[in-house]
Amino acid sequence: MSRDPLHGLNPPQRAAVLHVDGPLLVLAGAGSGKTRVIVEKIAHLVQSGRYPARRIAAITFTNKSAREMRERVGKRLKGETAQELTVSTFHALGLKIVQTDHAKLGLRRGFSIFDADDSASQVKDLLPPGSKPDAVAAMQQLISRAKNAGLSPEQAAEAARSTREREAAALYARYQQRLAAFNAVDFDDLIRLPVQLLENDEEARMGWRERIGYLLVDEAQDTNDAQYRLLKAIAGEAGQFTCVGDDDQSIYAWRGANPDNLLALGSDYPALKIIKLEQNYRCSNRVLRAANALIAHNPHAHPKTLWSEAADGERIRVWECRDAAHEAEKVAAEIQFIAKQHAAADGSLPWGEFCILFRGNHQSRALEKALQLLRIPYHLSGGTAFLDRGEVKDALAWLRLLANPDDDAAFLRAVQSPNRGVGAGTLAKLGELAHQKHLPLARAAESMAVAQQLPARAANALQGFSAIVQGLRADARALPPAELVRRLNERSGLLAALRASCKDEAQFKMRRRNLDELADWFDGPKTSGPGELAAALALLSHADKGEAGNQVRLMSMHASKGLEFRFVFIVGLEDGNLPHEASLEEGRIDEERRLFYVGITRAKERLWLSYAKEAQRWGDKLRLRPSRFLGELPAGELQRDGADPEAEAAQRAERRRASFADIQALLAD
Ligand code: ATP
Ligand code: MG
Repeated sequence: MSRDPLHGLNPPQRAAVLHVDGPLLVLAGAGSGKTRVIVEKIAHLVQSGRYPARRIAAITFTNKSAREMRERVGKRLKGETAQELTVSTFHALGLKIVQTDHAKLGLRRGFSIFDADDSASQVKDLLPPGSKPDAVAAMQQLISRAKNAGLSPEQAAEAARSTREREAAALYARYQQRLAAFNAVDFDDLIRLPVQLLENDEEARMGWRERIGYLLVDEAQDTNDAQYRLLKAIAGEAGQFTCVGDDDQSIYAWRGANPDNLLALGSDYPALKIIKLEQNYRCSNRVLRAANALIAHNPHAHPKTLWSEAADGERIRVWECRDAAHEAEKVAAEIQFIAKQHAAADGSLPWGEFCILFRGNHQSRALEKALQLLRIPYHLSGGTAFLDRGEVKDALAWLRLLANPDDDAAFLRAVQSPNRGVGAGTLAKLGELAHQKHLPLARAAESMAVAQQLPARAANALQGFSAIVQGLRADARALPPAELVRRLNERSGLLAALRASCKDEAQFKMRRRNLDELADWFDGPKTSGPGELAAALALLSHADKGEAGNQVRLMSMHASKGLEFRFVFIVGLEDGNLPHEASLEEGRIDEERRLFYVGITRAKERLWLSYAKEAQRWGDKLRLRPSRFLGELPAGELQRDGADPEAEAAQRAERRRASFADIQALLAD
C-alpha cells in the first residue's frame, strides 16, 4: 500500500491537492513546493479513484523535467500505473496529437519535424537570392509569430497592416506549401495544429477530452499564447486543470512566453481558485533573504512573502576574480576542496550536489577546462552545441530520411555524407527530374526511369545510396531508435569517413564519441518504427540530454528552472553579462533580475557569486564592472573575498595547507 499522498504537505498545499472540481492556479515563489503539489496531486487523483492514470496529463517545461516527474510519481504509484500517465512538454503532447490525428491534418505517417535551422533554410530558399541572414531571420520570426497567434496564411494576409507584413504573409503561404510538399511540420505547428484541430473538429475534441480528463501544468508562467490556447482547448469549459507557476520566474518572454496568461486564467475561468504558498522548503534562510531582497526591486502588483524555517546557513560568498579563467579555477578548486572535506568528515559527497550556473553557454569553456584539470567529472546540459556538430548533423539527416522519404532537405545532406561522388551537378539534374515527375528526391533517386537519364556513374552512386537507405529503413521497423543509430553509423559509412578525416586515433576517438553519444540521446521510446523515430527526433531537437551521472552539473540559468542543488556557483556576474547587454538596450532588465532570482533560488545550502575584473576582447583587455544586481543583495548576507589581495593570499595558503597536489599545482601562480 502506498503511503497517504497528503502526508507531509502544509495546509495550502493540501488544499491544492484536494481541489479537484474546477480550475486551480497555484501561484507561489521559488522552492515553495509547487512541483511537489503536482506530483502529490497526480497520486491523489489516481489513488482516490477520481481519474485513472491514463486520463491524466502533466505538462513540464523540458523533456528532462518530464522524465524526473514521471520518476517521482512512479515512486508514489505502482510502476505500471505510472507508465500510463502522460507526462510531457507541450510540444511532445502536441506531437502526440498530431501523430494520432495526422490524417485529419493532411499529413502522412512518418512526417518530418523541421527544427529552426531547417525552417531557416526553407525561408532562405523562398526569399530572393542573396538575402541577408538578418532578413531571413526576421521573416522566419514573423511567420513564427503568426503561427503562435494561431493565424493561417490567409488570416495573416487579412491581418497584415504594412507592406512588410503582407510580404511575410505571402511568404508564410509559400512556406506552408513547402512543408506540405515535404510532408513536414515545424515546431510551431506542433502547437498550432492541435489547437486548430481541437478548436474546429468536434469529434477530435471529444476524443481528446475523453483521453485527457485532467491536466496539470508546471511552470505555467512560461506558457506562450499558442500553448495557452492548447491548454484551454484541452481543458474545455469545465476547466479540469491545475496550473502552478511563479510570475517572478518568468524568464522566457524573449521567446514568446507570456506571464499575463496567468492573469488571463482568471478572466477565462471565472470559477478559478487561486492558492498561494508562502513557505520555502528549499533554501537556507540567507539565500532566501537575498533572493527576496533582489526580486523586491521588480515592480509587483501583489508583493509575495516567502519565508523559511531553515537555518540561516553560511553567508553567501562573493568572489572578485581577475578574469574568467581565474574564476573557473577558483570554482573548480573550491568544489574539490569541499568534496575532500566531506570525504574526510562524513563520507563522500556526490558530485551531483554541485551546480555551476552561467548566463551564456560560451561561458562553460573556461569552467570545463578547469574541471578537467582537476579531474572533476562534469555534465554540461542544454547541449544544442552537441546537436550542431557536423558528424551529429550528418547522422540526424540520415535518421530523418529513414523516418520520412519525402524529406528533401535530409536527403540532400545524407546523400553527400559521406561523400560518395554525388556532386552538385548530379543533384541539380536529379532535382529537375524529381520536379518533372512530382517525386521527392529520395524516390527519384531510386527510380530506374530517372537513373536512365543520368550519367552511369552518378546513377550507380545514387542506386548504391538508395540500397543502403532501404536496408536501414527495414532495420528502423525492427530496432528501437538508439540501436538504429548504432547500426546507421556503421552502414552509412559515416564512421569510416570520420576515421579517414581525423588526423589521428585520439581525434577519431573523441569525435566518434559524439556519434556514440547520439544513441544515448534516444533514451525514450523502446519501440520501433518510423513514427517512433520521427517522434524521437523531434523531441531530440528540443535538446536536453538524458541523465547526468555522478557529475558536477554545468548549465545556463535558463536551464536550471525547477532544479535544486546543495551547492550552487553563479559565475560571470558582470554588468553586460547579467544583466545582459542586449536586455539593457531593450529595457528588459526586470527579466534579467528574474533570471538571477531563478539562479539564486536553486541553492539549498550554500551559494557562491563571482565576477571577473577583466576580459579579453579581440586581443584587447576590457575592464568589466560587477553586476548591478550584486548591489541589490543585502550586504549582511554576503561575505566578499578576493577584493582584498591579502585575504585572497590567505585563502590560497589555507588551501595549499590542505595539501592536494593538484590544487597546489593549479594555484601556484
Ligand atoms: P521552483 O519554483 O523552483 O520550481 P517549487 O515551488 O516547484 O520550486 P519544489 O521543487 O516542489 O518547489 O519543492 C522545493 C523543495 O521543497 C523540494 O525539495 C521539495 O521536496 C521540498 N518540499 C516541498 N513541500 C514540502 C513540504 N510540505 N515539506 C517538506 N519539504 C517540502
Ligand atoms: Mg517547480
